[in-house]
Amino acid sequence: MDHLAGGLSSAATVAIVGAGYAGMAAATELAAKGIAVTVFERSRVLGGRARAIESNAVVVDNGQHILIGAYRETLRLMSRVGADPQRMLLRLPLTLSYPGQLHLAAPRLPAPLHLAAGLLGASGLGWSEKLAAIRFMRTLKSCGFRLTDARRHDSVIALLDAHRQSDRLRTYLWEPLCVAALNTPPDAASAQVFLNVLRDSLAAERSASDLLLPTVDLGAMFPVPAAGYVTARGGRVLRDTAVGSIERSNPDTYILQTEDGRRSRHSQVILAVAPYNLAPLIQNLPQLDALRISLAGLRYEPIVTCYVGYPRTVRLPAVMLGHANGLMQWLFDRGRLGGPAGLLAAVISARGRHLDLSNGELAGRIHEEIAGLVPGLAMPLWSQVITEKRATFSCIPNLLRPPTLTPLPGLLLAGDYVAGEYPATLESAVRSGLEAAAAVLDQSPGGQA
Ligand SMILES: Cc1cc2nc3c(=O)[nH]c(=O)nc-3n(C[C@H](O)[C@H](O)[C@H](O)COP(=O)(O)OP(=O)(O)OC[C@H]3O[C@@H](n4cnc5c(N)ncnc54)[C@H](O)[C@@H]3O)c2cc1C
Repeated sequence: MDHLAGGLSSAATVAIVGAGYAGMAAATELAAKGIAVTVFERSRVLGGRARAIESNAVVVDNGQHILIGAYRETLRLMSRVGADPQRMLLRLPLTLSYPGQLHLAAPRLPAPLHLAAGLLGASGLGWSEKLAAIRFMRTLKSCGFRLTDARRHDSVIALLDAHRQSDRLRTYLWEPLCVAALNTPPDAASAQVFLNVLRDSLAAERSASDLLLPTVDLGAMFPVPAAGYVTARGGRVLRDTAVGSIERSNPDTYILQTEDGRRSRHSQVILAVAPYNLAPLIQNLPQLDALRISLAGLRYEPIVTCYVGYPRTVRLPAVMLGHANGLMQWLFDRGRLGGPAGLLAAVISARGRHLDLSNGELAGRIHEEIAGLVPGLAMPLWSQVITEKRATFSCIPNLLRPPTLTPLPGLLLAGDYVAGEYPATLESAVRSGLEAAAAVLDQSPGGQA
């Protein structure tokens, strides 16, 4: 921390504020190009909204995450920092399994046959429903997964209405995919962003729709090895170091002041904090007033993960199960994902009636729902409910998301909320980090390093 301890350094260094997936993606990319960055992270733990925590003496995550094969840049950066995706992710062909209700598994066939064959072979759907779903995807493909201007304001429900999708297709296929991907209830979620996700997953090459389930914690999966990669190339990752404010000292320099009063000077700064943490950081920069106002318009959706520890003999019939018409939406067998046998994780995305329950009531209701899927289920040994109240922004139609470049040269934004085609996900965070890194390189003397 040499240059933070004393006076201001005069070095033309790049600072990154925030060591979530966006910040660490930017840091990795710049380190790979020979730029030694300084990353400031408020927390002791790296990863932000995708981080490891300890619960009942077990390392879990702040929330169960799912990746898909279409997360091209996340997978590429994992490999770059030595986090082998083959070892750290369980790859499964797209499978939606609702015991006793619906089972759809996309066979390992070339696209788009995998999806058509998966739908045609699904149990729990009538023939007319299967054909309606295939027709829906064909129609979307024929219009390039773009809504017309007249329909740009449509919600996912309006889209499903327009394409006459049945109640069962909605309940077991489209609405769960919408809530899982956009973390927004289908009657409020953006149809266009949903189409972007369908285009690049279900309608892309077969591997893009594969489900990738982490078998290590979310810190070990990328941010921690990324920090090793950055420091090995002369950069620094400062934990427990919150930035309190940013000032512009002359047109080419930014001064960061940490909350404990240390100051450092940087030629370029990537702000990679969550949108709700950005406003206080930029309060001394009147040029960013419009940005601050637009961020105040963002709304957020929660995600609840309930970990339930059962005796070691408890095992789900599949590593991931869907659940409709209850509170939980997905159930994961963490015992098959590198965790201790008997540990299950139930996930509830987006707002809903579950938020009215106390943690104890919610854990009780989830145990009852799990008991409906696992005959003869033992009583839980322990449980923990983790509610991330602002897990992601609410992905509503026509949302104006800020771009990477701000009106101030050398001051850039990264994060899952930055303008892009995808909803708030690990992949959108990583892509935004890469874009910010590219802008740093563009703005560096001499252009691309
Ligand atoms: C429970 C849950 C489940 C999710 N499930 C999925 C999923 O299944 N699939 C998927 O793709 N995505 C999922 N997401 C979304 C995904 O986790 C986020 O989109 C992504 O992690 C956001 O990364 P980020 O880098 O943009 O922001 P963040 O992760 O929020 O990182 C910002 C970092 O900045 C730090 N910071 C803030 N202020 C300061 C400051 N003043 N000084 C220094 N540091 C600061 C924070 O501590 C944090 O580490 C889920 C999110 C949650 C919460």
